[in-house]
Amino acid sequence: METTGTIIKGVGGFYTVLTDEKPIVCKARGIFRKNNKKPYVGDLVSISIPENPDEEGMIEQILPRKNTLLRPPVANISQIILVFSYYSPSLNEDLLNKMLLQCEHIAVRSVICINKSDLITDEEKQRIEEMFRGTDYPIRYTSVLEEDGLDDLKELLSGEVTVFSGPSGTGKSSLLKKILPTKSIEIGELSRKGNRGKHTTRHVELFRIEEESFVADTPGYGNIENLNMMSDALKDLFPEFDKYRQDCRFNGCNHINEPGCEVKNQVGTAISPRRYDFYKRYYEEIKRQERW
Ligand code: ZN
Repeated sequence: METTGTIIKGVGGFYTVLTDEKPIVCKARGIFRKNNKKPYVGDLVSISIPENPDEEGMIEQILPRKNTLLRPPVANISQIILVFSYYSPSLNEDLLNKMLLQCEHIAVRSVICINKSDLITDEEKQRIEEMFRGTDYPIRYTSVLEEDGLDDLKELLSGEVTVFSGPSGTGKSSLLKKILPTKSIEIGELSRKGNRGKHTTRHVELFRIEEESFVADTPGYGNIENLNMMSDALKDLFPEFDKYRQDCRFNGCNHINEPGCEVKNQVGTAISPRRYDFYKRYYEEIKRQERW
């Protein structure tokens, strides 16, 4: 008998597939390995159910993916919540910007979550918001300590497959513990192991929080992969440039040194100088690598 389900866990060649009725532990057909197509957590799969309940099921087919995140390896996600703090550790703006680029690159919605909001003032919040002017990135402030902003964040999870990502020390695990109704212990365990670095195989697990809502904890994934793109493509990942690019004098303007550049013209007004500065530095960095 066959059915479909979502892979919520994959460890050592065994995949837990959540079907309508229950989770079924499955193996994957050898053909996937042969074709170099490894099942990912988050994959929708068709499986054959074992007749003997003590045996494993078999993943027969991986249904087409909407997207694939490589670090952590998760498929079919609908949004990434980037958890950062402003103090302790202090906000790494470049890392946040790079993570946003990564989300843009795979066309996944991103949410900026500034945790430990009890430590920051309204002026500092304003400073954060100013940096992202002209973008649609939702910004949420949360404090586990003061239980502030948690319901607001929870609302964003409904009906979505959400990955929480961010550098260590920003309180991601305690935040997850607070907002997830169940499985909190496992998440704590997972993250502690991840932080200690004893886990060589970092595994990701999806937790179902409602019928159609899943959350992935991603222990140890604070960093990002290289974007692996040409410098000319970078400008397209800055949504605040969109409105102005058609007013640049040159087609395909990179908004660096070209005369008559409307994007540059807007820096300081509609576009944040800090974001533009990041763009320029990152552009040069990619450009340098291209020369090698
Ligand atoms: Zn331009």
